[in-house]
Amino acid sequence: MQFKTIIEPFRIKTVEPIRSTTRGQRETAIREAGYNLFSLKAEDVLIDLLTDSGTGAMSSQQWAGMMRGDESYAGARSFYRFEAAVQKITGLKHVLPTHQGRAAERILFGSVLKPGDIVPNNTHFDTTRANVEHRGAVGLDIPIPEAREPQTIHPFKGNMDLEALQKVLSEQGDQVPLVMITVTNNSGGGQPVSMANVREASAICHAHGKPLFLDACRFAENAWFIKMREPGYADKTPLEIAQEMFSYVDGATMSAKKDGLANIGGFLAMNDNDWAQKCRTMEILGEGFPTYGGLAGYDLEAIAVGLEEVLDEDYLRYRIRSIAYLGDRLDAVGIPFIKPTGGHALYIDAKALLPHIPWNEYPAWAFSNVLYIEGGVRAIEIGSVMFGRQPDGSEKPAAMELVRLAFPRRMYTQSHVDYLAEVLEYVHGMRGRIRGLKMVVEPPVLRHFTARFEPAHDVLVVD
Ligand SMILES: *Cc1c(COP(=O)(O)O)cnc(C)c1O
Repeated sequence: MQFKTIIEPFRIKTVEPIRSTTRGQRETAIREAGYNLFSLKAEDVLIDLLTDSGTGAMSSQQWAGMMRGDESYAGARSFYRFEAAVQKITGLKHVLPTHQGRAAERILFGSVLKPGDIVPNNTHFDTTRANVEHRGAVGLDIPIPEAREPQTIHPFKGNMDLEALQKVLSEQGDQVPLVMITVTNNSGGGQPVSMANVREASAICHAHGKPLFLDACRFAENAWFIKMREPGYADKTPLEIAQEMFSYVDGATMSAKKDGLANIGGFLAMNDNDWAQKCRTMEILGEGFPTYGGLAGYDLEAIAVGLEEVLDEDYLRYRIRSIAYLGDRLDAVGIPFIKPTGGHALYIDAKALLPHIPWNEYPAWAFSNVLYIEGGVRAIEIGSVMFGRQPDGSEKPAAMELVRLAFPRRMYTQSHVDYLAEVLEYVHGMRGRIRGLKMVVEPPVLRHFTARFEPAHDVLVVD
C-alpha cells in the first residue's frame, strides 16, 4: 500500500444529528441524574461511549436484508439464512437464535449446570457470571497473570492459564460440566486470546472428556488480532481464522449486538445432540420457537448479513486502528490506560491518574463524571462502584479503577476521536482539581445502574 492513512471504509448514507450542550447545561443534567451517567438522557450526550453493545450502525445491505424478513412463526426463510451464516463461520451443528447473548447463557446453563458445579473461563463477563451463579454454580476466572497488570504488554493478554485449567480438571473434574473461553476478554480489557491458547485448552478439555464453549461475542476482532500478532496467520483471511478457532470448540454463545453488527440478537450453537434437545426445550419456555428464538425474521436477516460484513479486512483494520489511534494520542501526553489497547474499548487507569482520590470516593466514577461535564462524553466506570459491594455486605476496593471508553461499531469518525482525545487531554490537565463522590442512594443489586451520588467535598471540581 502506497498510502498510510487508514480511512473509515464506508461512506455515510443516513445521518443522525448529535446535540451540542453548554457546560452549564451538562452540570445541571448530571446533578439531576444524581451524578450517575446511566441516568442521563442520551440526547444530552455528545459522544456516547457507554457501550459497544447494540449501538453500532447497520449497513445498507443489512437494511435491505430486513425488507426480506420472513415473519413465519416456524421454519421461516430468514432462519435458514441465519443458520447458514452461523454455520459457515462456526461449523457447529445446532444453531438456536436468541434475543441476546445472556439468553443463550441462561438456556445453556439452565440446561446443563447444577448447584455446586464449576465453570472455568479466562474471565466471565458479568451476565455470564450472573447466569452461572443463578444455577448455584461457581464461575472460576483463570486468566494468565499478565491480565491483571495494566501496564504489562502481552500480545494475547486474554489467554487462559492452561496450568490452572489442567489443575481444576484433574482435581475437581467431576464438578465441571463445561469450560468456556471468552474472545476477546471483555472484562479483562478487550484483550485477545491466541489460536494456540484455544487449541491447547481444547486438547486439555477433550483429554478430560469436557466440552469447550466459546463466548464468541467479539470473535471477529479476536481473529484480526491473531492475524496481526500470531506467527503463521498473516496470510489467512479473518474468516479462515475464525473457522479454525471454532473448529476447536464444541459450542458457542454469542451476542449479535457485538460482532453480529446488529442492534439486537444472539445465538447458542453446539454439536451435542442431547444438550441441543434440552436447550431447545428451555428455549421454547423462555424465548420462543427455535426457528425465531425471540427475534423477528428481519432481525435474523440483519444478523446474517452482519456476520459476513464483520469479517471484512478493511472494516477490522479500521476498527482496531480507531482504538489504537486514541491510545497513541493518550500515550503522547502520559494518560495511563490498559496496554496494549484492546479490540472494542480503551480502559483508562483512574487509580494511576487520580492517586489523591481514595477508592471509597470512587476515582474512576469521578473521572467519568468530569469527562461528561467538560466534553459531553459518556464513558462507564469499571471500578469500586461496580464491584465494591461484596455478597457478605462489606465494601472492598475493586482490583482496578477503570474508565472504559467503548466504541460503537461504524458510528464515529476520526474527527470524533480527535475531539475525544482533546477532551481527555484537557481533563487530564485538570486532574489535580478533581474531587471524589459519596453514594447517597444505594440499590441492593447491580448498584451502579441506579445509585445516586453527591460530591464528597462540596464540589466535584475545585477552582
Ligand atoms: C455483551 C456480552 C455478553 C452478553 O450479551 P448481551 O447481548 O448483552 O446479553 C456475554 N459475554 C460477553 C463477553 C459480552 O461482551
